[in-house]
Amino acid sequence: MNRQAIDRALEAYLSGADEQTKMRLGFFSELWRIQEEEGAAIAQAHPYDPPAAEEVEQRYWDGRAVFADYPVRIDPDDFARVCDRIAAHLGEHAGLEEEVVDALAQVSWGDFSQVADLKLAGANPPEFVEQALQAFEVFEVPAELPASVFMMVPAWALRAFLDIPASAVMACVKPNTNDERVHDNPLLCPACGTPATASCVGEVTATNGGGRTLYCSTCSANWGFERIRCARCGTQNPNHLHWFHIEGDDAHRMQDCTECMSYMRTVFENDSPAPITSMEVEDVVMVKLDAIAHDDRFNLKAE
Ligand SMILES: [Zn+2]
Ligand SMILES: [Zn+2]
Repeated sequence: MNRQAIDRALEAYLSGADEQTKMRLGFFSELWRIQEEEGAAIAQAHPYDPPAAEEVEQRYWDGRAVFADYPVRIDPDDFARVCDRIAAHLGEHAGLEEEVVDALAQVSWGDFSQVADLKLAGANPPEFVEQALQAFEVFEVPAELPASVFMMVPAWALRAFLDIPASAVMACVKPNTNDERVHDNPLLCPACGTPATASCVGEVTATNGGGRTLYCSTCSANWGFERIRCARCGTQNPNHLHWFHIEGDDAHRMQDCTECMSYMRTVFENDSPAPITSMEVEDVVMVKLDAIAHDDRFNLKAE
């Protein structure tokens, strides 16, 4: 996580943002600070040793996430401490209802970290979150606390453990200069295996092949991806892929896929008033597109 890049992006957005976006950015800014601070301390205490660059490269093109076989070690005491800090921030600053805040305060993250499968969390984070949601009652959470709110805490805590290891992994992925491989970029995060959260379309450079990168909010990885391709199902049929944006905001668009009925939020660097420095910030700014994707009263402009 690059704090300077985050601060630059925050500065660019905060001046013109509506109140809701400002509040959301303020909340996440502090969350990222916690994740970064804890992440640096954890990486120092338990350094992650990535596999050899050739192995990372091979797995990238095979679409096999690195952590699956080279997991990140997650210490239960560390995990409990990070969860405690994130839960306190969530309770205080997320605008949750009072009874949810009270229920959240009753959760023992020390107990959770003993019961939860932290080995799985370090090897396959999306599976960890999915399994924890499925077996939610194991954690004996107060009834007033929705599973979705509860799970935000460990899901966000993971970032503190995965961010620096993911950077080490992604540093081994070489730019794609082989044309034959141009459509082989992985759909899932090459480091942790989570589906992409958002994407960025910028200039075509050696490091991002088609001028597009995908971003994983679980671990922070960014990786090159084809411009005309669905980031969920991988189709390259242009008839099934459409771009939508909100009137007045050309920079943030959705790539809509009628083959798998999903969409991907995407920021267009050339249409953005400021350079794209932080996908963390873009991800938060683009939350409004999710609401629009589910609301057909909005007048979407297809291209
Ligand atoms: Zn990831
Ligand atoms: Zn699709």
